[in-house]
Amino acid sequence: MEQSAKSSRPLVVFSDLDGTITVQDSGCILIDAAIGEARRREFDHLALSGQIQFRDSLRMMWEAVDLTWAQAVAMLDVVQLDPHFVDFVQFCITRSVPVTVLSSGLEPMIEHILSERLEPEYRKHLTIISNGVEVLDRKWTIHFHDDSPFGHDKSLAIRSVKRQYSSSSEVPIFVFIGDGVSDISAAREADILFAKKGKDLEKWCQTNEVPHYTFETFADVISKLNAPV
Ligand SMILES: [Mg+2]
Repeated sequence: MEQSAKSSRPLVVFSDLDGTITVQDSGCILIDAAIGEARRREFDHLALSGQIQFRDSLRMMWEAVDLTWAQAVAMLDVVQLDPHFVDFVQFCITRSVPVTVLSSGLEPMIEHILSERLEPEYRKHLTIISNGVEVLDRKWTIHFHDDSPFGHDKSLAIRSVKRQYSSSSEVPIFVFIGDGVSDISAAREADILFAKKGKDLEKWCQTNEVPHYTFETFADVISKLNAPV
């Protein structure tokens, strides 16, 4: 994308969580503890090559997790937010830009990570749409957001919000920020797409010639959205 992102039209922001808002992938931390990174990558390969559906790979990996909720929460202590994510939320609050977190992760984990690391005024500015989970003793059962092969088709929320504005005189610019394979459906819906440098979403954009900005931290996102015309 060569043109400036700045416009007088209002912005509506959607963002992935793991590997985008957070530096580490919280799901991978727990799944790797259960099955190891190599086995997880095998599941990723099976899903990417279409041998199994993404939702089935997620379900099988989460079913392998053998942790109590307390053990899992303790393991999430290492998860850090992008160093400029708070600045980004403040940027959006100041401009009345809504921010929806679209995640293939599990809602109680996301809530824990965000509420532990963000002041309440920043946390409450974020809407979360994700999968759910039930943890009974050490058994993890994922509850998918929808019936799609992704388990959570991130394009659905964006299309739903777009419909709300379809008859509006001032149609917003829809922004999506992501890093991974689960972000591809949402990426197709974005007017302005940010793909994390060196990750799968950026590679997919390059392969499919999808216009995008590359970012390393949310400072880059702020800078682009704030760029003068
Ligand atoms: Mg991600």
